[in-house]
Amino acid sequence: MKTTIGNVHKHVNETVTIGVWLHNKRSSGKIAFLQLRDGSGFIQGVVAKAAVSEEAFELSKNLTQETSLYVTGEVVEDARSPLGYELQVSDLEVIQEAVDYPITPKEHGTEFLMDHRHLWLRSTKQHAIMKVRNEIIRSTFEFFNKEGFVKIDAPILTGASAEGTTELFHTKYFDEDAYLSQSGQLYMEAAAMALGRVFSFGPTFRAEKSKTRRHLIEFWMIEPEMAFMDHEESLQVQEEYVSYVVQSVLENCKVELGTLERDLTQLEKIKAPFPRITYTEAIQFLKDQGFDDIDWGDDFGAPHETAIAEAHDKPVFITHFPVEIKAFYMKPDPDNPDVALCADLIAPEGYGEIIGGSERIDDYELMAERYKEHELDGPAYEWYLQLRQYGSVPHSGFGLGLERTVAWITGIEHIRETIPFPRLLNRLYP
Ligand code: ATP
Ligand code: MG
Ligand code: MG
Ligand code: MG
Repeated sequence: MKTTIGNVHKHVNETVTIGVWLHNKRSSGKIAFLQLRDGSGFIQGVVAKAAVSEEAFELSKNLTQETSLYVTGEVVEDARSPLGYELQVSDLEVIQEAVDYPITPKEHGTEFLMDHRHLWLRSTKQHAIMKVRNEIIRSTFEFFNKEGFVKIDAPILTGASAEGTTELFHTKYFDEDAYLSQSGQLYMEAAAMALGRVFSFGPTFRAEKSKTRRHLIEFWMIEPEMAFMDHEESLQVQEEYVSYVVQSVLENCKVELGTLERDLTQLEKIKAPFPRITYTEAIQFLKDQGFDDIDWGDDFGAPHETAIAEAHDKPVFITHFPVEIKAFYMKPDPDNPDVALCADLIAPEGYGEIIGGSERIDDYELMAERYKEHELDGPAYEWYLQLRQYGSVPHSGFGLGLERTVAWITGIEHIRETIPFPRLLNRLYP
């Protein structure tokens, strides 16, 4: 019977055939151990000279790395393997013999690995990261569906930008100008006024000229938007959501977290509620810590976020940033209009900001005033202002960066390994 490595537990003591690639092998005179991979997992195939034809045994000893083949054998329990099973091979059939594989077990530099990203994805580590990424996406959809949100897609080509214009990718749209989306948020507000609670999941593009371990040029965002919800209610959704995702990964990616040698005690404590500090308190905290490079009115840099995160053992919300340094649509705090009803969620262990969110301005007059201040007139923004004229309601939303979240949960140092084909300042290949 044909099966996959992920399904061998359904065929214990049965003979199965699996399509695989050879990941690695060891052999001695009478036995060959084949590390086999099919995408659904890794399994060891044991080829005993006595159990197969002479031809098959010779073949197994000479297999090159990444050769594709069909292996047939009996599934037996094996407590020593991470999977819990191994395959006692009775036959094998080569599909294609691989030529010399460039990624050998020796250490390679980052540039070399990035140039071979299309092959590097086959490694156990990259395999584990992609599986965790998938689980984060899967549990995200599960969480928001469970909470009654509707998944809505925002456009990627737009005539307007939610944030500044300097990091925008510009393109021609026939005779008009268009930009690649930096955030689906403005559209999600329109969707929330139609469907109540919505979320989008899509690619976003930022021509970030900075080279940091946290910034990609193309990355994916999850952007929920909720009608009839204020800032505080939105923070509760955020902490419940992030806890749900972390606990889902702990539950469903045990093998992968083991491969990545992730410190599970760091993840196990990620449960709502999360601590909150105000921006003003954060500035004071940093000054007390001896930072003299930041004042009230400045945005945080990576070292600041790391210092704040280190003072907490869970993700921490920094709330009430100065209106001046945040986006035009954020609602000012009625008790102190110099600050906005907004928050950044900072991940533990130095991974930085994973969520930015706020309550949005719902008052037509105030939004019209903001348009003047920010010179946002023109047809590209007309529709967004109009949303405040037809049954405007308090509403809030946030954006979670998928790759930042993958980096944090997997414990990977650099964001470039959290997306299949990263787009970086100097990289568009492969
Ligand atoms: P940062 O301060 O780290 O540059 P930001 O405040 O510019 O982030 P937002 O506009 O608030 O980011 O976007 C929402 C989320 O998207 C962020 O909290 C982060 O998780 C993620 N994000 C932003 N920029 C990038 C990027 N260049 N690469 C990967 N993820 C990003
Ligand atoms: Mg930024
Ligand atoms: Mg930020
Ligand atoms: Mg932000």
